[in-house]
Amino acid sequence: MKHIYNYSLDDLTTYFQEIKQKPFHAKQVYQWLYSKMVYDFEDMSNISKNLREQLNKEMVIDDLKIKEKQVSQDGTIKYLFQLSDGHFIESVLMIHDYGQSLCVTSQVGCNMHCSFCASGLLKKQRDLTAGEMVNQIMAVSRDTGIRISHVVVMGTGEPFDNYDEVMKFVRIINQPHGLAIGARHITISTCGLVPMIERYSHEGIQTNLAISLHAPNDLIRNQLMPVNQAFPMDQLRESIKKYIETTHRRVTFEYILLDGVNDSLVCARQLAHYVKGLNAYVNLIPYNSVDEHGFSPSQNVEAFKDELLRLKVNCTVRKEHGRDIDGACGQLRAKRSGVI
Ligand code: SAH
Repeated sequence: MKHIYNYSLDDLTTYFQEIKQKPFHAKQVYQWLYSKMVYDFEDMSNISKNLREQLNKEMVIDDLKIKEKQVSQDGTIKYLFQLSDGHFIESVLMIHDYGQSLCVTSQVGCNMHCSFCASGLLKKQRDLTAGEMVNQIMAVSRDTGIRISHVVVMGTGEPFDNYDEVMKFVRIINQPHGLAIGARHITISTCGLVPMIERYSHEGIQTNLAISLHAPNDLIRNQLMPVNQAFPMDQLRESIKKYIETTHRRVTFEYILLDGVNDSLVCARQLAHYVKGLNAYVNLIPYNSVDEHGFSPSQNVEAFKDELLRLKVNCTVRKEHGRDIDGACGQLRAKRSGVI
């Protein structure tokens, strides 16, 4: 079976031509799928019976099963989904004052093995398809009746290790006849795969880039993030600088504050130095404890922030969502798989 959420509007138009159907039906089907959120071909009433039957035979629409749902007091909802091959993934819906954002998973497991992260507890089983990422948005919208306005590719996985499918996903949800989620409302977060940052700078799309930095120097970053051994901070900075020059977009640095590891004022000064001269801002993230890893949340968040502000670095402390549920990346899935 083919998954219709994998199809861009152009792909669907081509497909209809191949099966000797009128190409304009593609736009209609797209509207049913994404504006009316229909997930049964039978409900697409302006589509001929013959085409509906054909689609029914060859295509599936919704292919994610909701296995578990945790609702936080602050409105955050964490979903555990099962894919058609049995694997589990998570998505998190967060309610902000500016809209509703969904944190989307890009891979089953992750091979980056950052030492503080729950996702890396389970090594990568496979990449998700673009359609499986689209399906996360559709399943959550359908379940809640909420229209997702913002998307962050910050769930389990390294999006730039699944580059083509992630970019395809972005283009599908950005399509004006589909979900029409504005490019500026879409953020891709990477641990710093330098060649892919270079590629991303030439995509010609206005989506945002976030970099998981988490350390102010190579010594600390090597300990926290094995990827730093392949792409050390100088190289990373160079690629970000080029990205900013090419796209004229501002970059976000994510920085988890870990007690006694990267949260001293000396670290803040080194970080300020690293960021200086880049059109960037720093998002300080309170650590969400993962029992297995032995790190604790920093007690020095305000002082660290004040030091950055004093050094004229734009920064904010990320508001926590879903504290009372298994909010940290990959936690719910790792628990259900018996890893933690
Ligand atoms: N691989 C990508 C996207 C997934 S991680 C990346 O590295 O950016 C998304 C963000 O959540 C990253 O900044 C990651 O470092 C952070 N994160 C992971 N575990 C966390 C935890 N326990 N508490 C807070 N943030 C965490």
